[in-house]
Amino acid sequence: MCGIVAYIGEREAYPIIIKGLKRLEYRGYDSAGVALLNNGALNLYKKQGKVANLEAFTEDKDRGGSAGIGHTRWATHGEPNDINSHPHASSDGEIAMIHNGIIENYDSLKRELQRKGYSFKSETDTEVLTILVEDIYKNSDISLAEALRLALQQVVGAYAIVLISRKNPRQLIAARKSSPLVVGIGKDNDFFCASDATPIVEYTKKVVYMEDEEIAVLDLDKGLKLYSIDDVAKTPYIQELELHLEALEKEGYDHFMLKEIHEQPRSITDCFRGRLNADEAWVKLGGIKDYEEKIANANRIIMIACGTSWHACLVGEYLFEDLARINVEVEYASEFRYRNPIINEDDIVIAISQSGETADTLAALELAKSKGATILGICNVVGSSISRITDAGSYTHAGPEIGVASTKAFTAQVTVLTLMALSLAKRKGTISDSTFRTLLSELEAIPSKVQEILDTNDKIKFISEQYQHASNALYLGRGSSFPVALEGALKLKEISYIHAEGYPAAEMKHGPIALIDEEMPVFVIATQGTSYEKVVSNIQEVKARKGKIIAVVTEGDETVKGIADHVIEIPETDEQLVPLLSTIPFQLLSYHIAVMRGCNVDQPRNLAKSVTVE
Ligand code: GLU
Repeated sequence: MCGIVAYIGEREAYPIIIKGLKRLEYRGYDSAGVALLNNGALNLYKKQGKVANLEAFTEDKDRGGSAGIGHTRWATHGEPNDINSHPHASSDGEIAMIHNGIIENYDSLKRELQRKGYSFKSETDTEVLTILVEDIYKNSDISLAEALRLALQQVVGAYAIVLISRKNPRQLIAARKSSPLVVGIGKDNDFFCASDATPIVEYTKKVVYMEDEEIAVLDLDKGLKLYSIDDVAKTPYIQELELHLEALEKEGYDHFMLKEIHEQPRSITDCFRGRLNADEAWVKLGGIKDYEEKIANANRIIMIACGTSWHACLVGEYLFEDLARINVEVEYASEFRYRNPIINEDDIVIAISQSGETADTLAALELAKSKGATILGICNVVGSSISRITDAGSYTHAGPEIGVASTKAFTAQVTVLTLMALSLAKRKGTISDSTFRTLLSELEAIPSKVQEILDTNDKIKFISEQYQHASNALYLGRGSSFPVALEGALKLKEISYIHAEGYPAAEMKHGPIALIDEEMPVFVIATQGTSYEKVVSNIQEVKARKGKIIAVVTEGDETVKGIADHVIEIPETDEQLVPLLSTIPFQLLSYHIAVMRGCNVDQPRNLAKSVTVE
């Protein structure tokens, strides 16, 4: 969370920073700010709200200068007002800092600085770090980079920071621990720095992903210098970006979320391209091939994630257990890491994260690694922290996901898990050849079936109109449709702010049924399969209490059509693969309802993507 952009070179910094902040706005939109160095002045502008507010605010100001830093905030310490916005300046106004993360010991550092006579304008942890750097810098004869290094040695917590200073107009200083930071090396001896590569890609493809506890000095005279926090010089590892600019635009859609929903036939195909062949009956995931034997022989696999990725893990649990007969435990990363879990060297831990930067997931992986487990990752963002610390893993190849509510990343995660489960099942002999072949060809057909569902958008929009004013909603499913129910409920609450709960359909009788009345929409996955009849009974129970049923059914279903208020038909597929289809109508329903309620679909309130704080 929080987006960071910085530039130093010959060009005008302001337009580069503003454009970059807009690209990073998915990471936070509580406030935005810039600090620009121009003719010896350090001009600092910051404003509550979106980047657009900042632009309006700076219209009549001096926005010149070819060095600057910018920030879009997701507040952790102090409310989202102008004063708490970044950048934060030192008390003498010589230095300005942007920060993503949390300085956990900020309170004791602050008290110490207050004793020394410093006062603070904001309630943030970031200002404390800025003044700590100032204090060290002012009271010694060392460089600013060295002062930052010493300051960071006193810090407990997470940070990605960039510093700009009046006295060093030809350099920016960056540092990271736990929060991501990428340095772009420009073609004209200039430098970029950002939370991810999206603000950089249109200027250069040469990037360096900073490692934990590294400090980078971006110096126009001396080039890029990297140091560890222990003062060991490091050689920058320059990588070539594969990201394309078009992937970052809305391409005619009203919202990124809608574009990303519609991209799923392609993103699922991209996810399995080169990894499966139904005619030749093989699946291969190159990224994990050296570990497959170990995974296949594991007594258990622990899957860890947060949010939507956690729902993907739950689908994975059904797939791995049913197809490959491997015991799977699914854990919330934040709970797992703080409860002294029993992990040993035989364990396989698979972490799932779209951004590959989710702080809790990253920390949980590190814990598992320290106990000797084999750690694997399923991430979307290439080069992300999780993909770098894991022993092996698979990318989802869904392309950049910018809408805060995850859609195509979820279906891509489920696709990778399906491929993994199939590959392990084949290796272990827990699946017959004919089932293996059927599942492969069914998986190949999923993208066109997703397209068929997307083509029913008008009907889904009509249904959304009927429920746009609901205050509560219930989502029910059984088997692997239960995680889809959880994901459906999450989608609705996060973008339309309607309170929604997902439940295993049978659990309804143990509590939530008390909520049902004629006002309550109940979304049910009632596709053909093992528990179909049971789900039909659950639907009857809701109807008996006058609840409204919106059922996702298999094409041609007549039974549920006769009972439900609305049905959304999805093409027939193997029961194992239903989650890849049944989740699509729920994405569209949430999207339309949120738009009808006037909500900001791509940037829902209080949320942000890439949760780099715990
Ligand atoms: N802790 C800083 C603040 O509240 C940065 C927050 C973040 O990175 O999410 O301003």
